[in-house]
Amino acid sequence: MNMTGNMEGRRDAPKGKACDVAGCGKESERSVSAKLAARAGLEFDDSLRRVHLCRDHYKRLKKETRELREIESLGR
Ligand SMILES: [Zn+2]
Repeated sequence: MNMTGNMEGRRDAPKGKACDVAGCGKESERSVSAKLAARAGLEFDDSLRRVHLCRDHYKRLKKETRELREIESLGR
């Protein structure tokens, strides 16, 4: 089902906000604009302006947005 897994770690004391991606809830490491997260195809609450992402989702976002950029630049 969810292949993002738990490879990276286990922290004893998760602090701060959880990942905002629907169904995730891991500790967030970064936040990005909702616009960017939406472009990366992540699911989150529409009312958010900034989306907190765990490491896995941030990686995915970077990957997705890189692909989007490549697609866009190829399309010129
Ligand atoms: Zn997440």
